[in-house]
Amino acid sequence: MINAAVTYADADKDLVDAFEALPRESKSGDYWSEDALKALKGRIKSFYIAAQGSRCCYCDRHQGTENHRAWDVEHIVDRAKYAWFLFTPRNLAAACPDCNLAKSETEVLKTRGRKTYPSSSADFKIVHPHFDQFNDHIFHYRHVYIPKTPKGSFTIYTCKLLRFAEKYIDWQNSAADTRFEAEVNAAFDSELPMAVAAVNSIANQLSQPD
Ligand SMILES: [Zn+2]
Repeated sequence: MINAAVTYADADKDLVDAFEALPRESKSGDYWSEDALKALKGRIKSFYIAAQGSRCCYCDRHQGTENHRAWDVEHIVDRAKYAWFLFTPRNLAAACPDCNLAKSETEVLKTRGRKTYPSSSADFKIVHPHFDQFNDHIFHYRHVYIPKTPKGSFTIYTCKLLRFAEKYIDWQNSAADTRFEAEVNAAFDSELPMAVAAVNSIANQLSQPD
């Protein structure tokens, strides 16, 4: 869980305040791509990379670099549908580009269309980097991710966290295929060897010719 939220000062504050002063219907997530925001976005990224100890907010993997090309600023509630949370400090985190791309614009709010930012873990379908303890929801060891809660399961599938195991053992589109979510989760509910067997069986099904 991230124990700090970014604050805005000086030139950053002016840019944020100018956006916040717009009526909600005039706010667009595209504002994020404005050239004027480049330095501000860099500072947000540096802040969260440090606050997260260089661990991605979704896959929990340590990246041994603070190079900004290896990190994305993540809008936990997506900026396309919820532009009004563009600069909300607790809606921001640092993610690896693969998790960010996998999650994309997936709806993570339990109640769609909220206008004020929720203040509690229970309002989110995803393991929220600012409200949830990763280990409460997901068991993570090396390539293995096992959900402990529905939030953990949602996060594993939304961010495609089974991609590491698939790559490691050369499975393609099997365990992380949401068509098999129920089977994989049922196996995770019992124990790891059964999970491996289930994933093997799914990989076999997928490799059978049509
Ligand atoms: Zn990640």
